[in-house]
Amino acid sequence: MRWSKRGTGRSYDSLNGYGAIIGFLSGKILDYGTRNRKCRLCDKGHDPNDHDCRKNFMVSAKAMEADLGAELTNNSQILKETKLNVRVLIDDEDSSTIAAVRRGSSHSILKLADNNHLRKDLVNELYELKKIHSEMSKKEVIPHLQKCFGYAVAQNKGNVNLLAASLRSIPDHVFGDHENCGDWCHRHSEPNSQSQTVLLKDQWLREKLRAVFDKYAGNASKFSSAASSQANESFNNTVAHRNLKKDCHSLSESSDYRVASAVCTKNKGDGYLERVQDILKVSPRKHSALFAAKQDRMRIKRAEMGKLRTSKLRRNILRQQRESLRKVKEKSEGTMYEPNCGLDLDIAVNMEQDDESSASFLSPDQCHFIYFDLETSGLSLSADILQIAAADQDSSFMVYINPSQAVTISASKVTGLENIQGELFHHGKKVDSIPIKKA
Ligand SMILES: [Zn+2]
Ligand SMILES: [Zn+2]
Repeated sequence: MRWSKRGTGRSYDSLNGYGAIIGFLSGKILDYGTRNRKCRLCDKGHDPNDHDCRKNFMVSAKAMEADLGAELTNNSQILKETKLNVRVLIDDEDSSTIAAVRRGSSHSILKLADNNHLRKDLVNELYELKKIHSEMSKKEVIPHLQKCFGYAVAQNKGNVNLLAASLRSIPDHVFGDHENCGDWCHRHSEPNSQSQTVLLKDQWLREKLRAVFDKYAGNASKFSSAASSQANESFNNTVAHRNLKKDCHSLSESSDYRVASAVCTKNKGDGYLERVQDILKVSPRKHSALFAAKQDRMRIKRAEMGKLRTSKLRRNILRQQRESLRKVKEKSEGTMYEPNCGLDLDIAVNMEQDDESSASFLSPDQCHFIYFDLETSGLSLSADILQIAAADQDSSFMVYINPSQAVTISASKVTGLENIQGELFHHGKKVDSIPIKKA
């Protein structure tokens, strides 16, 4: 089972969010919930009882996902009535959500990783290696490693040991050693073939790749079921169509109704509109019946088209394009979301155990606080960092950084820093600065 969310996961300032538990086999939504942090009428001073108030969450947006996940998994009225227990969760590697779910659950819950997220996380790690190892920059290397990973998962569905062995053989495979390769490697069936799509030489890189693939191999039990989050993605798309980001529906009950409508479409198709009209005794409804029938026909057609090989190829191309666009954006904006936090965290943890260690939060007196401050050459995303300072109770640290562009007048006024002929000056006095990488 799984839940999906939108507007909660990665942008931590969202006013509302939703989640749904989707049955692994049926693909139907079993239960769903919403969290709203703001209400327009309440903000204007209305009493919550004089309108259809949907404000139900006061804490930070970041906590919404975990809260909703735990509520749906542990307290769903529908699941209770049908005497269903969530025993297995498939989700991206968000450790705070699974921790909240486990805290509120009376039985142990197995957490499986979702393949789509895993693939993205693997690509991220490969791109990290590319920064240090020039061999990774050849354009076919990362897609080839990704493909090998995909084959290994697809061909060893349900077999943890074989999957782990397959994953461990991938680094050797790209270094020309095919001894342990499985069926996925063409050298396996044609041992005399000399062709090799990717042949790497840097032994240091080989060790790094081993470390990456070993990590996934060590966690093979979490994703050997080859569960995909496609049902989540399709539900997210339906909600996104009804709840357009450019229109702000989150301040009233409108947003909740839009999510509810998406749930009905997902489970019943657009024919649910007729049922609603029956209940509301609305007539005539010739047009909406025609509309619903047309929508349902189109959805079935789209689903059939989606299974075609050509559609799959096109999806892969589009995914690669999106991936490279995201990389470019992240370069200028920084990483917005740290992937795989749960995978790292759980590496040495026995999967069957109710893992309370990841659930515990530190109190302030157990923490070591470090305060830091950055000065930059301006407010744009491409501005230079010119000074880094940090301090804790006992020590402090400060360093100036070589400027690569002019400092804006307004930034200069605030920081006293200037770039004069490539040298950094503080209130007119030259200071020693170092390259950003060393800092
Ligand atoms: Zn209200
Ligand atoms: Zn091979």
